[in-house]
Amino acid sequence: MFQCDKCGECCRHLNLSSLYHFLDRGDGVCRYLSGNLCTVYEKRPLLCRVDESYEAYFRESMTKNDYYELNYKACDKIKTKNK
Ligand code: SF4
Ligand code: SF4
Repeated sequence: MFQCDKCGECCRHLNLSSLYHFLDRGDGVCRYLSGNLCTVYEKRPLLCRVDESYEAYFRESMTKNDYYELNYKACDKIKTKNK
């Protein structure tokens, strides 16, 4: 399972991908974010679910390990951006 540390940074940078515009409150932050946590976690969109998105969109094109690596790199990049 993907290891998310719940930093909330991806939910504060939705402007980095047009796929998430429908969640953007206007400044890149998700309308459902409170502090670092998702207020609709149990009902969050498929695009916010790392493991389920793999099964739905990436399973045919890469291994799960490669997919995780890409995600961990994206997390690191977004976290470093704010330092
Ligand atoms: S940036 Fe990565 S570690 Fe932080 S909340 Fe998002 S998925 Fe989790
Ligand atoms: S719906 Fe939840 S998990 Fe998805 S971007 Fe918004 S706060 Fe983050």
